[in-house]
This record gives sequence, structure tokens and C-alpha cells, in this order.
Amino acid sequence: MRVRNKPWADEYIKEHADYIVTEPEKYIGKWQDRFAKSQPLNVEIGSGKGQFIIETARRNPDINFIGIELQKTVIAIALKKYMETPLPNLQFLLTDGANVDELFQPNEIEKLYLNFSDPWPKKRHAKRRLTSPNFLKTYQVVLQNEGQIEFKTDNRGLFEYSLVSFNNYPLEFDYVSLDLHQSEENEDNVETEYEQKFSAKGPIYKLVAHFKKV
Ligand code: SAM
Repeated sequence: MRVRNKPWADEYIKEHADYIVTEPEKYIGKWQDRFAKSQPLNVEIGSGKGQFIIETARRNPDINFIGIELQKTVIAIALKKYMETPLPNLQFLLTDGANVDELFQPNEIEKLYLNFSDPWPKKRHAKRRLTSPNFLKTYQVVLQNEGQIEFKTDNRGLFEYSLVSFNNYPLEFDYVSLDLHQSEENEDNVETEYEQKFSAKGPIYKLVAHFKKV
């Protein structure tokens, strides 16, 4: 999803600097300073227009959340939605989440969410998939022991690739669904924008896994 730059985005982001970080290097090791309370930290990479992270933060006041998104206009749209009812436990971060191990300290994150990540279907682009081993390596650094990765997609190819990638790394699976919306787990499911858009066309796949203890 590429969204054309909107001229208002820059100014809007500057005006709401209490809720969005644009210079992550200032907060490495100090992310808790951005929140009202120090509590477990959950992060979504590729939070898009924010529907999932805003609702998940609203339902979980005892967890701090950061939504990372690399497109300025997309995160500005998320921020606009968020400013209707801001929360003390959600911050947005405008940056490339490709190197989370350079944004967070080791063991700083309790859970990582990857929702409808770009599938990069061409084989030669496999390394760009957010579930490829080079990314898993960075997640392993920032996730606490037993910390989980929760991944949802409508893309069968990306799901199969991710199952193999997680299994080979190795991660241990906590949950796998080939049709989330028909499962019991769906009761607590928070839908993303992409999920709402694409679930009519086919199943939503989900997997939850954690790194094996060393
Ligand atoms: N998660 C949202 C949803 O499910 O509706 C958006 C899905 S959209 C297909 C993928 C989003 O991830 C895009 O907004 C894209 O800009 C963002 N993205 C891709 N790679 C990223 C990265 N390395 N760091 C941060 N955001 C990224």
C-alpha cells in the first residue's frame, strides 16, 4: 500500500508531537518516558492507518503500545483517528521498523504484532518479508524471553513462507489458524483495515509463536 503524500501530514505530525515520535534515537532505552505509566511494551510493525493498535490499546490499558509505520501520510491518518480519543498507553513512531534492534534495547518488548505485512511475492524479494530470518534475528534481540510474535495475513503464500521461516529459525508455535474468522479465537480478534477489506475474499491466517529458550 503506497499512499500519496498529503501536504497537511508534516504539520499535523509536528503539532501532535506528544503522541508521535519522529526521532527514535532519542528514546532508545527510554520508551517508557513517553507513557503515563511504566508497564509491558507491545509493538506493531507496519501499523498502517492505526485501527488495530488503537483498539488493542483501548482494550488493554495495562500495556503500553507503539505503532511503527514508515509512510508519513499513512501514520498521519492514523494519528488523526487516534486524536479523536487519545490514550495514555499508545504512541506512534514514524520510522522504518526494519531494524527494531536499533530502536529498542534487548528484551524491551513483550509482544510484537505483524498484521498484513507486505507480501513481497517475488522470490528475489523474500529477504524483505517481515517474517524472513534476517528480521526474526532482530525480533529475538528485542523480545523478552517467551515474548510472542503475532502474525496475521490474508496472503496464503506469505503465510506458508512464514510458517516455514518460524519453524526453521526455530520458534515454537503457540497458535496456528488457517481460518481465524471461523475459529473460537475470533471472539477477541481486533480487525485491521486490511482484514476488514479482504476477509470477504478468503480466509484470514494467523500464527502466534515465541523464540525457544536457550
Ligand atoms: N497493518 C495494517 C493493516 O493490517 O491494515 C496495514 C497493512 S499494509 C499492507 C502494510 C503496512 O506496513 C504499510 O502501511 C507499510 O507502509 C508498512 N510497512 C511496511 N514495511 C514497514 C517497515 N519496515 N517499517 C514500518 N512500516 C512498514
